[in-house]
Amino acid sequence: MNGEHEEPHGSQNGEVHQDWRPSSWKTKPIKQPVVYEDPNVAGKALAQLQRLPPLVTPYEIWKLRRSLRDVALGKAFLLQGGDCAELFDYCHDNAIDSKIKLLLQMSLVLIWGGNKPVVRIARMAGQYAKPRSSPMETVDGKQIPSFRGDILNGYPPDQRTIDPNRLVQAYFHSAATLNYVRAQISSGIADLHNPLEWELGHVRDQGMQTKYTRIVDSITESLRFMRTIGADTAGQLHTVDLYTSHEGLLLAYEEALTRKLKHPPNRDSSISGVPEGSHVRTGEGYYNTSAHFLWIGDRTRQPDHAHIEYFRGIENPIGIKVGPTTSVQDLTQLLDIVNPRKEVGKVTLITRYGEGKVDELLPQHIAAVRESGHVVVWQCDPMHGNTRSTTSGVKTRSFASIFSELSSALRIHQQCDSFLGGVHLELTGDAVTECTGGSQGLQDEDLGARYETFCDPRLNEKQAMELAFLVAGSQRG
Ligand code: PEP
Ligand code: MN
Repeated sequence: MNGEHEEPHGSQNGEVHQDWRPSSWKTKPIKQPVVYEDPNVAGKALAQLQRLPPLVTPYEIWKLRRSLRDVALGKAFLLQGGDCAELFDYCHDNAIDSKIKLLLQMSLVLIWGGNKPVVRIARMAGQYAKPRSSPMETVDGKQIPSFRGDILNGYPPDQRTIDPNRLVQAYFHSAATLNYVRAQISSGIADLHNPLEWELGHVRDQGMQTKYTRIVDSITESLRFMRTIGADTAGQLHTVDLYTSHEGLLLAYEEALTRKLKHPPNRDSSISGVPEGSHVRTGEGYYNTSAHFLWIGDRTRQPDHAHIEYFRGIENPIGIKVGPTTSVQDLTQLLDIVNPRKEVGKVTLITRYGEGKVDELLPQHIAAVRESGHVVVWQCDPMHGNTRSTTSGVKTRSFASIFSELSSALRIHQQCDSFLGGVHLELTGDAVTECTGGSQGLQDEDLGARYETFCDPRLNEKQAMELAFLVAGSQRG
């Protein structure tokens, strides 16, 4: 593979990051800065975080990196989804169960559609920090600080002061969420020996209903066949991998959970978590142990700023949001900075242009990346470029616009001799009414029924499943 190097940035393999430290971001200008009123209290919280054990391990991080390498090479598909702003309150069994089940069910449909394995990453167990377009907002005629996510302040208007004690609370809520995810997965929540519930009764359009039913029948029949012939020698039908992710926005938190750790040993190649090939991985590297995958938001990806500085030093697979304001020069410069060795699949480019802009912008970004020699995962986030306000001022997104950007991305990649590697969605397993459209036919007027998001509007369970059906349908042709 051209320009591919699997060696880590470990001491025995030559330091490529001699001038990098988990704290070197502090020497750079920063967007979305956070100022703690009492630095002593914040310092104590950060010191406590530094002592707490990692939430994820280098072994798991490399297992995901291997899978994302497959995605970048067209051998697998990536499904990433969850809340826009995860609240500490969502650390609750029902909310977690419904999200795991939804991601699993969507991934089955996508496996059917693309005929390849699906890598699942939840926006969960740490998605607590939000970038905001304005530091202040008006509530009941009063100017108050904007809600910046549970790791910084609270949504109720009287809790908008930045509170450093939330740093440690974020860690423990991440840990509890992740523990429950791991426990449920090892207890068989994703066990395909059990029949899945596919509720399609809400689909009003008869043609759609027939189409989706056919897909479900096909999946159910395949699973039945596999069980019958005993095609589960490795127990693969019993369990799945589900990785965690969040936006790496609050760098003080990310720094505190960044650890210099031994690279995983190069074991038998049948262990899929081990980096491929004969490279002996020795030495140590810096791992962000708060999540398997972290991404850089659209507002914080300036090449000479703090967030890029932090991200260039960690071993985790990372995402970069790419939008209408990303120049071709910035894009390739960013890739060179965060991935100087051009490791395949190390970087996921999460494109979020909006349905009206994707045709103009995506082809030039694909061409520039190809020219640069980087091999990335191309992931479409059809949510963030398609936010609109209803006439009564409710923030929403239309299902049709979301699907339009996604199908344009699929088509454009094909036309450019590239391929779409994955999707990035804001969704919830609950029956909320935050996005319009979809097979239930939600209108602007219906949004009040269960509008529960504290940040961006999410697809509900039925809309999310429908999107999976539509993508699978278009992949199959
Ligand atoms: C998000 O993913 O919730 C987000 C803020 O996206 P973006 O950085 O692309 O605006
Ligand atoms: Mn969002």
